[in-house]
Order: sequence, then C-alpha cells, then structure tokens
Amino acid sequence: MIRLFFRFIVLPVLLFWLMRAILRSIFEGFRSTLGPRSAARQPPAVRSGGELKKDPVCGTYVSTAASITRTVNGEVLYFCSKECSDKYRVA
Ligand SMILES: [Zn+2]
Repeated sequence: MIRLFFRFIVLPVLLFWLMRAILRSIFEGFRSTLGPRSAARQPPAVRSGGELKKDPVCGTYVSTAASITRTVNGEVLYFCSKECSDKYRVA
C-alpha cells in the first residue's frame, strides 16, 4: 500500500518538481544571456539617499535626494513628481 502511494503520488510530484527546476534554470539562463538590462529593469519607486519628506499633495514619502523641491513662503517642500509640484501650485 505504501509502495503504491509512493509510486503514484510521490514519484509524479518529484518528477514535476524536477521538471520545474530544470525549466526554471533554462529560463533563467536564457534570460541572463539577454544581457544585464533585464536584471536592472526594476521600478525606481524607492530611491535611497537623503532623508524622507512627505509630499504634501499625494502623501508619499520621498527622499530629499530624489524629490522635486520647491520653496513656498520660505518653506522647502518636497514632491515625488512634477505633477504633484504642479498640483500644489493650483491648490
Ligand atoms: Zn506626489
């Protein structure tokens, strides 16, 4: 009974895992041959460096190094994007 269980459940599962591992390694090898650009294709959402300031328009925290700064009434404001900076002018 246990031998039957191994033959019909454990063996197919192991084969499936093996196949998946092989396919994945092939895929990753193929992807790495395309060059380092694919590895660097990550959204630049979180940029490090500088201290975090809150965007007064959308509420996102942006680092002072990567944000758009504007001085309004002597106060320096930090925006995540030009759109937010423009919106603040309208408000
Ligand atoms: Zn924003």
